[in-house]
Formats: sequence, structure tokens, C-alpha cells
Amino acid sequence: MDNNPASAASNSEFELRARQAILSAKHSIPQMAVLLFAFDTPKNGIHAGDANLTAFFNSISMRLRGRLRASDTVSLLSGGHIGVLLQSVQGPQDLELVTNRLLNRLEEPVKIGNQTFVLKPRIGVSLFPEHGDSVRSLIEHAENDLALATTARKPFTIYASHPGGLISARQWMSELRQAIVSDQLFLTFQPKVSLLQERVTGVEVLLRWQHPQHGIIVPDQFIPVAERTGLIIPLTLWVLQQSLLQCRQWKEIGLDINIAVNLTMWNLEAQELPEQIEALLRDTGVPPESLELEITETSIMSDPQRVIHTLDQIRHLGVRFAIDDFGTGYSSFAYLTKLPVSCIKIDKSFIQNIETDRDSSVIVKSIIDLGHNLGLKIVAEGVETIQSKRMLRVFQCDEGQGYYFCRPVPADAMTQFLLSPPTTLIGEPLIAKTREKDPVPLAHSYEP
Ligand code: C2E
Ligand code: CA
Ligand code: CA
Repeated sequence: MDNNPASAASNSEFELRARQAILSAKHSIPQMAVLLFAFDTPKNGIHAGDANLTAFFNSISMRLRGRLRASDTVSLLSGGHIGVLLQSVQGPQDLELVTNRLLNRLEEPVKIGNQTFVLKPRIGVSLFPEHGDSVRSLIEHAENDLALATTARKPFTIYASHPGGLISARQWMSELRQAIVSDQLFLTFQPKVSLLQERVTGVEVLLRWQHPQHGIIVPDQFIPVAERTGLIIPLTLWVLQQSLLQCRQWKEIGLDINIAVNLTMWNLEAQELPEQIEALLRDTGVPPESLELEITETSIMSDPQRVIHTLDQIRHLGVRFAIDDFGTGYSSFAYLTKLPVSCIKIDKSFIQNIETDRDSSVIVKSIIDLGHNLGLKIVAEGVETIQSKRMLRVFQCDEGQGYYFCRPVPADAMTQFLLSPPTTLIGEPLIAKTREKDPVPLAHSYEP
């Protein structure tokens, strides 16, 4: 080892220089991005050519500028799009970061005169040199993505996060197609537990993709691609069929378990859905009461009349509906009464803070009380600790779901869980007698 201080200094100088060289090498990768923003321009009281419309766009442009570097450009383009040119992008992750930052900035409503508008931005993105080497091809690429985002009613659709970085939507699509036909998709199950009786009442099906190169990919990373490309329809039918077959297997060994499957807006807009569900129930022999479908408020809002008609048809088969992620969307109880739903699942963001944040616990308690008054069953998602489970019991929440009880696990592990319920399900007094720190942390919950 060399203890010479001069040599140590030059070592650290060398390291500093190397870091700078790496940084500037990264900077020298000539990547730039074109972002096209589209908005539903306000229709009420504002017309093309109107000074208020200019004010509307100016207000949005100002907000975007506030989140960008001085070297970036924001312009109002023809067709009512706002174009943003990012001069230097350090790769796709950087682009995703900037895009999310800009979307956050647009969450606040815009006030023009005495009117307030909630923005629903959609973004088309293209990256130089990946998506084109001329201004025209970059803009065309971004326009295509914007069109896709518009039909998908998604804010930002061109890239999906990926363990190996970001890959293009087209590549995702062909990989996902391949995944469906080559058995790379599999179901995991997470129990819903009755909080008063401490027993499993049903399981939610959560899809996973075992990717040959990237390992297990979670649905948030591929469901949006499936939605955009239309693959969501065959994908959901596959999930439904596999889930019902699994439900039948459990019934055959005496496990009377309900099964819940997630649906997207695209599924609800497909007119064939009721017929397809009826056929699947008939083919698998599972009683319709054993199937629950989880939908979000947002998925109904796209075309409420049509969707409610589809929901009604499915409900007449005997299948039940739950509203998923309740509290994050419109969360209108008045609206809920118009829907054929029998259950509300309170979003996990409230449950995770229930012990520490008074607002969250007040919201949870109010949702439970109001829901019960409407005759709905209430399920709390994201139950991670025994303390939150206890609070939910005191609030008289019907069921809980979360890592405290069990993480989502494949079918075999779930069968084992159902046959020999772990300690987390063994009964305890409604209100804990002792206040000592609970000895049953997450580690006691079941994992394969
Ligand atoms: P979701 O329907 O809200 O499902 C609950 C998500 O919360 C799941 O994430 C689950 O793994 C996670 N989770 C469960 N307990 C806890 C907990 O205690 N703490 C925390 N932090 N998280 C918990 P997952 O499996 O990654 O699924 C994400 C979303 O993907 C689901 O959200 C659902 O919207 C969608 N999804 C999953 N499977 C399907 C499917 O087959 N079809 C469709 N259309 N969407 C699906
Ligand atoms: Ca769900
Ligand atoms: Ca949820």
C-alpha cells in the first residue's frame, strides 16, 4: 500500500477527473426529445380565437417552463398542441422523470377568468436518435404516440418502465403477444380476510409475467401496453378462464373460495363481455356468486351509460362487482348508488397511513360508515401491520387484504395457505388488551 500523501492526492484527483470524463461522455451522447402535449380544450364559454383560449395555453406553457431547463423550448403548435423540446436527455429514465414532473405540474386546475378547468393532458414522446433523425420524423412519431394515448385515454403511453431500461411500445407489444402464447404469464393470488371471523373469504387474482430475460414483471408495467394494443381483451379472457379453473379446483378439494378478477375500462367497453363471462362460467361450472369483478371508478367514467348497461347484464348472471382503489378517483357515493356494485375496496394509500395520519383514519372510518349505510361490503387494501388490522376491526371494516396476511403467491402456495392458515389468521380479542409492541410483524405473514 502506498502511504505517500502526494500519491493519495493524485489518486483522488484521478478519480475526480474520471468521474468528470464519465459525466461528459454521458453528456456527449446526443439525445434529445420531442414531447407533444394535447389537452381537452375547455368547451364551456371558450371558443377558438378567444382571448381566453390564448390565456389557457399561456398559463399551461408558463407552468411547463417552470419545470424545465433554460435551454429547453416550449411552444404552442398548430392543432392546439404544446410542443416541448428537451435539449439534452440522459437516456430514457431521465425522459420518464421529466415527463412525470411535467404531468405533476399540470395536476392543479387552471383558472381563467372566473372559470376553473381540470386538465387532462396526454403526451406523445419521441427520442432522438431512436425514433427518427429528422424534425419531421420525430414530430410524426410523437403524433402517433399521442394518437395512441388519446384512444387509450392514458396520459403517457409511449414507453413502459422496464427492468432493463425502457423499451419501445412496439417491442413490448410483440414480447407480450409472445408471452401469452408461450405460457410466460401466470396468476398469483392474495387472500381477502374477514376481519371479524378471521377467515379467508376469497382471493384476488394478480397477474405476473415471467420474462425470459428480465425475470418477473409486475402488471403495472405491462397492462398499459396490453390496453393500448388491444391485447387486454384476450389477456383478460385468459385470466378469467384460468382463475375460474383454479376456483373449481379449490372447490373440488373442499375449499369454498370466491375469486376476484381485475377488469379495465377496455373490458367494460367490449359489448361481448357479458356473453363471454356467461360462457366461461358455464364451461368451468363455477357458480356465478363465486366470481367478483374489480373495476375502478375511472373505468366507468369513460362512457357511463354504456358501461352501466354492461355491468347490469353481468350482474344479472349473478356475478358481483367491487369498486377498486376507492378514494383515489371520483369517490362519489351519490354515483355509487347508481352502480350495481356490492363492495368497495378502500385504496391502500389510506390504509398504509391509518395509524399515523389522522386524516387517513377519519377518511377510512367515514368510507366504512357511509358504505355500510348503502349496504355495501368494505374491504381495506394494503393491510401491512397488525396495528392497522386492529384499527380496521374497531372501525368495523368487513375484510382486509395485504402483506400482513399474505403476499400475492402462485396457486400451489395459496392452496397450502388455505389448507393451513398461518398465525396471522388465528383469532384475537376484538380490541387488544395489551399495548406492548406486537410480536407478530410482517415476517409472520405467509410467504412461499
Ligand atoms: P390492484 O387491483 O389495486 O391490486 C393490489 C395491488 O397491491 C397488487 O399489486 C398487490 O400486489 C399490491 N398489494 C397487496 N397488498 C399490499 C400491501 O399490503 N402493501 C402494498 N404496498 N401493496 C400491496 P400488483 O400485483 O403489482 O398489481 C398492480 C395492479 O395491476 C393491480 O392493482 C391491478 O390494477 C392490476 N392488475 C393485476 N392483475 C391484473 C389482471 O389480471 N388484469 C388487469 N386488468 N389488471 C391487473
Ligand atoms: Ca384489484
Ligand atoms: Ca386496488
